[in-house]
Amino acid sequence: MSDRTTTVGRLDEVVSTPEEFDRAVSQALPVLLDRATSYTKRFLRETGQWSEDVAHEKFVLRWGAEYLERFLICGRSEVPCRPLFLLDSLVAKQHSQPEPFCYHPDLLTPLGRFLDGIVARAAISRDALIGLYHHCYGFGPGDVIALTGLNGSESQRIYKNFRRWRDSGWQRAMDEVGMTEAELNELSSRQERHPQRFNGESERLIRFAQAHYRKSEPDHYPCLSRPQWEEMFTQGYGYDYRIWHLALCLDCMQTAWALGSKGTPAVDKPRVELRVRP
Ligand SMILES: [Zn+2]
Ligand SMILES: [Zn+2]
Repeated sequence: MSDRTTTVGRLDEVVSTPEEFDRAVSQALPVLLDRATSYTKRFLRETGQWSEDVAHEKFVLRWGAEYLERFLICGRSEVPCRPLFLLDSLVAKQHSQPEPFCYHPDLLTPLGRFLDGIVARAAISRDALIGLYHHCYGFGPGDVIALTGLNGSESQRIYKNFRRWRDSGWQRAMDEVGMTEAELNELSSRQERHPQRFNGESERLIRFAQAHYRKSEPDHYPCLSRPQWEEMFTQGYGYDYRIWHLALCLDCMQTAWALGSKGTPAVDKPRVELRVRP
């Protein structure tokens, strides 16, 4: 406890250079994570969005970690600053937004957690990224290859991505957001009973999650106009961008879906038709 207090004490003091900032915070990561996490928990409590279960605990941990990550990146350019106050104000700023993504109440529903879980994973794992084509539109590997206009060795990778996602990736992502078997079954049966309403609700949340997680890859973030997409496909460049951006952007997907195959499109116009299972 006294150790903690001294560390926090030092974070209270002004750091003047990026190097000093790095040094001060690198010794205090657990304390800072703890702080970001408990603010987040308190915010959820105060806004009536908290409950005592594993899903919520994991949720605040994930967001605490995200805040910390942003703090580590932006803090270096905020010097001179007092690191502790900078973290506090960064978190407070998030919480005061009219509709902070992280606490969107719908993301705490089973459907929201499911989608947040797979889209968050897609931002860091290629298997999950390719898996999104299946979960959002029901595409198989052949559809993904046709849609993105891939060839040869790149298309072999798509099959591997699908296989690994089915074998273990999906389960890991579900465990991470605390989805239970019962919740997954409930999603499937809601979809059976009211397919249109369910897919409509999914589309709204998918757009929301995509817009948020797309920011994790600045190079692949910007959308293209229809002529730009056409040029990319006819000139045959930007494969990584295509795979990444189309998986995470419904609008561009609907612009570019027919460009991968010359002549008759190999896949039907993509519409959100959620697949819960891999
Ligand atoms: Zn956010
Ligand atoms: Zn786009």
